[in-house]
Amino acid sequence: MSDNCIFCKIVEGKIPSRKVYEDDEILAFHDVNPWAPVHFLMVPKAHIPSMAHVGPEHAGLLGRMMALAPKLAAQEGCRPYPEGGFRIVTNTGAEGGQEVHHLHIHVMGGPRPWLRG
Ligand code: 5GP
Ligand code: ZN
Repeated sequence: MSDNCIFCKIVEGKIPSRKVYEDDEILAFHDVNPWAPVHFLMVPKAHIPSMAHVGPEHAGLLGRMMALAPKLAAQEGCRPYPEGGFRIVTNTGAEGGQEVHHLHIHVMGGPRPWLRG
């Protein structure tokens, strides 16, 4: 865990969140400022600052996160592919638009128009 990291504090329960899913290594919770009717974040519980910090040792974890995303998207109300679907985004670094430096996957979906994206 990293001091002063908002998402570490959410993982530890020190900051409340609307939980979507939790297991030993992954937490998913609703984005506090949603761009789309469905908008949640998936984070590893371990503090990895960004996708730029990911190496082969993280392949299993990231694979499990990506494999879980469709199930959680459906659970949260995204309609089935191909009419429905969802968007997965991971902002990385300043020029990548990353604001919170704890690796996270945005999962967005639901009827358009969206606020952004
Ligand atoms: P980034 O720009 O780093 O990819 O996105 C960070 C996201 O985290 C933003 O969409 C923002 O709304 C969300 N966020 C920031 N602080 C909090 C918080 O305290 N709780 C929740 N649930 N989401 C947050
Ligand atoms: Zn963190």
